[in-house]
Amino acid sequence: MKLFYTDIFVLPLPAGHRFPMEKYARLRERLRACGEFADDDFQTPLAASSDELCLAHDGGYVARVIRGELSADEQRCIGFPWSAAMVERSRRSAGATIAACRTALLDGCAVNLAGGTHHAHAAHGEGFCVFNDAAVAARVLQAEGLVRRVAVVDCDVHQGNGTARICADDARTFTCSLHAAGNFPFVKASSDLDVELPDGTGDAAYLQQLAEAIEQVFRRARPDLVIYLAGADPYHDDRLGRLALTFDGLAARDEMVLAACRQRRVPVAVTMAGGYARRIDDTVSIHSRTVRSAKRIFDRPLD
Ligand SMILES: [Zn+2]
Repeated sequence: MKLFYTDIFVLPLPAGHRFPMEKYARLRERLRACGEFADDDFQTPLAASSDELCLAHDGGYVARVIRGELSADEQRCIGFPWSAAMVERSRRSAGATIAACRTALLDGCAVNLAGGTHHAHAAHGEGFCVFNDAAVAARVLQAEGLVRRVAVVDCDVHQGNGTARICADDARTFTCSLHAAGNFPFVKASSDLDVELPDGTGDAAYLQQLAEAIEQVFRRARPDLVIYLAGADPYHDDRLGRLALTFDGLAARDEMVLAACRQRRVPVAVTMAGGYARRIDDTVSIHSRTVRSAKRIFDRPLD
């Protein structure tokens, strides 16, 4: 199973910045060390081109990001200061999701070891998200005629508000978000399917709601491709989470989404999305387990 990764996913941040950027490098180290992946499973993606980004984003916004013309307010809203490396990282991350989608069509499943930047809107970024990799990738594959209908299954603990707004009038892309009702973003967008969970929701209640949501996604969207945002932040010890899933609950969540795609023979591209556990090692363990279960599930023969 192919894993798309670039060193540019690790961006130097100013002192005092609390975004756990090092999780990306540690995730790759963990996956290399586990011995389940070959060296050539780790692939470096191409950066998304401006034309590709503009399929989901406003051309003026894309140009302002690339030329370094974002205002102080726009940079504050994103949460990262502008730098040439920030632009390259954001383009590579969108490129990695495009590559994972293309590869999933051939192999059944592929992974972007970053991505899931679901708060990026058509004409502005927010919440550490510059470009919306899922929306861009869906539009690129649709524009190339490789797929008709795409479903975005967003299990990050925060609502995928950018994806919902970008795809609001787009009947070809179905957006589903399961998130903590009381969490950022405080003004929610309307996805095609929103599942709002109260603070403290644990494994059993979460998995029951997820099972119902998955049924609806496949019935209503009839997707040719699923893009799964496997956020690590519904974890009970996440600093920004508000839900109470355990390691095993998160693993059961991944299994439920990925096995549903596998059983229906729908290709799936997996992205990592958020994860801000008090111990960064916990976030890396959750992401690593997601990737390893994807391999296990897609290596299994179909019955
Ligand atoms: Zn999140």
